[in-house]
Amino acid sequence: MTVSMLAGCGGTSSVNGVELNDEVLKLEGYLASAEELELTLFNHQSNGVRLWLNDSLLAQQTKELTNIKLTNLASAAQADSNQAYNTMLMEDVLPDIIHSSGANLDQAGMDGAMIPLEDLVEKYAPNIHKYFQEHPDHLEMNKAYDGHLYYIPTFSIEGPSQGWIIRQDWLDKLGLEAPTNKDEFYNVMKAFREQDPNGNGRKDEIPYLNRTKTPLGLLGLFGIDNRNYVVKDGKVICNVATEEYKQAITEIAQWYKEGLIDPEIYTRNNAREELFANNNGGMTVDWLSSTFSFDVTLSKEKLGNSYFGFKLSAIDPPKDVNGDQIIWNVWNPIASTGWGISKDNKYIAETMKFFDYWYTDEGRTNLWFGPDHKINPDGTPDYSDEARAYVGGPTEYNESQGAALGLGSVRLVEAEVGAMPEVAQKAFWHYKNNFKLATPFPTFKHTPEEKRVMKSQGTDIATYISEMQQNWVLGNKDVEATWDEFIAHLNELGLKDVLAAYQSAYDRMYK
Ligand code: CA
Repeated sequence: MTVSMLAGCGGTSSVNGVELNDEVLKLEGYLASAEELELTLFNHQSNGVRLWLNDSLLAQQTKELTNIKLTNLASAAQADSNQAYNTMLMEDVLPDIIHSSGANLDQAGMDGAMIPLEDLVEKYAPNIHKYFQEHPDHLEMNKAYDGHLYYIPTFSIEGPSQGWIIRQDWLDKLGLEAPTNKDEFYNVMKAFREQDPNGNGRKDEIPYLNRTKTPLGLLGLFGIDNRNYVVKDGKVICNVATEEYKQAITEIAQWYKEGLIDPEIYTRNNAREELFANNNGGMTVDWLSSTFSFDVTLSKEKLGNSYFGFKLSAIDPPKDVNGDQIIWNVWNPIASTGWGISKDNKYIAETMKFFDYWYTDEGRTNLWFGPDHKINPDGTPDYSDEARAYVGGPTEYNESQGAALGLGSVRLVEAEVGAMPEVAQKAFWHYKNNFKLATPFPTFKHTPEEKRVMKSQGTDIATYISEMQQNWVLGNKDVEATWDEFIAHLNELGLKDVLAAYQSAYDRMYK
């Protein structure tokens, strides 16, 4: 692969033997070509459930705005996205644009099937360039481990994903205020357990539930991330092997013993459906949107003969043991898909300009609010009435229309949040605007050797950690009595190698 960028006025530039057409730089608006130009695409997602539809409203609108007629060569008739991708790669001539997972595209790039894009972004894709300048980390996290950028990623939103969600009707019934710190949180759990807030005369309340089958969401009360590994001051450390963690898990085990945590937390399927609908569950840490959908449905439902007054609130994050209020569960903007330019693409400059469209406000609005979106009286975009009325909600509506695809764009926070129940929307903005959001763990691009370590030692360690967590919480093993043995066994399993693999990926990215 040859890349030549000859400097100087009027100098020609070419990539991979293709001359770059600088005429595209003079085009107005979103145009990526002076004449209508057809580019072929491979896009096959979710085993064919989602893909670019050649005859959709979005495709038509895109052609009008950019002069690019995008023709997807993948078909929904193919059942398996991976198989479709591998078959496509064996063709003599590849589609101009290839969409897939970052891992696939990195490999294709390093095999010579895709061209590096990092030098093209600044000149031909000013909006993508601007995004990368504002988010240098995001650029680094999407480069392959050889240092090249082989695809333009789709980025997700930044903001809180989960919240502290509590039965407001139970608080009201017992005359309690929302807990504001760890100790008050404990007291509320205790009151929910002891004081019969569901009013049936039985001690059947389960104060804390979680559908992810672990109580680790409670670690936030101790100022601790619920991940096994975290970055502290540029060093990747094992979060679990710390004194703070030991204290926290000891206390959580005590809460379990006192009946404050779902006794079946490690096995219960559909905890929210079961425990909220039966009026047994008191609080959880979970996704705002899906959890508040219970508020919408259950507030209208009867339990036996009467409405049970179900009402959820997202409370402010209780102050942790350090006095901080941190939102630990946040969206990770680094998504794992994108699209790039194949070695057979003869319109590289045009394609880059076309990619850039999807990073403009107009392109993002058309993609995420849908090509048929409406504009509110205050000038903000909104979902069409048809999308709002759709049974599965506006996001599903757009997906069914071939929009809202993770091609290579930046999700619109207004669109993502605008599709949530109204109470969840309020909670999202309240959290985002008032509290510190944790930094997501970096998305690493590992070398084959690092991957090997992750897969062997890394998997063994993860299994052992979750086994021990469960033993401690359930009271099968005492934390204090088994702690030294726990640390020793982590080391035997190769913790040092796993940390080294993370660290080298981290250093490659940031140094
Ligand atoms: Ca009761």
